[in-house]
Amino acid sequence: MVTTNIAIIEAILDRLYPNPEVSLKYESLYTLLLAVLLSARCTDKRVNEVTPRLFALAKTPAAMAAIPVEEIRAIIRPCGLSNSKAKAISGLSKILCERYSGEVPQTLEELETLPGVGHKTASVVASQLGIDAFPVDTHIHRLAKRWKLSSGRSVVQTERDLKRLFPKDRWHIRHLQMIHYGREYCTARGCKGSCEICKAL
Ligand code: SF4
Repeated sequence: MVTTNIAIIEAILDRLYPNPEVSLKYESLYTLLLAVLLSARCTDKRVNEVTPRLFALAKTPAAMAAIPVEEIRAIIRPCGLSNSKAKAISGLSKILCERYSGEVPQTLEELETLPGVGHKTASVVASQLGIDAFPVDTHIHRLAKRWKLSSGRSVVQTERDLKRLFPKDRWHIRHLQMIHYGREYCTARGCKGSCEICKAL
């Protein structure tokens, strides 16, 4: 039954989103890391409005490390949680300079040690790096439960279940497709049970 559902879900997602992309705007792995960090409890749209100013100020760890935290905070304020996010941006930029020669580390484990970078943020960056990761955001978590792919008990469980159900070489594309589907169809306006995949299962 779940196998049939997976086949249905994959076929519809592939038709709707043949080439899904990350909706955050970025210029490099470092700026992607900052954009994902800023997107915590904030919409990608808002982050994309803010990051051009931030990246105009500094787009490398060395340049950012030299900017006072207060200046970073003033720019990113519209994203919310600006105190902690500004400290994290400044702190991780300094660490990248000191420990990683100004580069973004290439493993999930190293990414997760950076300030302000939790498992989900690290997974998004890792996924873009081609590392096997399945970042679970609120859309994916909700849809996995609605599509009966996971119990919905926790994001940890959802990630475990989705990694088991989808082939590893499709994790990157599936997570992006599910985010797009969730944004387009599964909004806070309420569920009438009539969206394409939900109807087909
Ligand atoms: S039917 Fe639509 S709104 Fe309801 S759970 Fe499915 S995608 Fe979300």
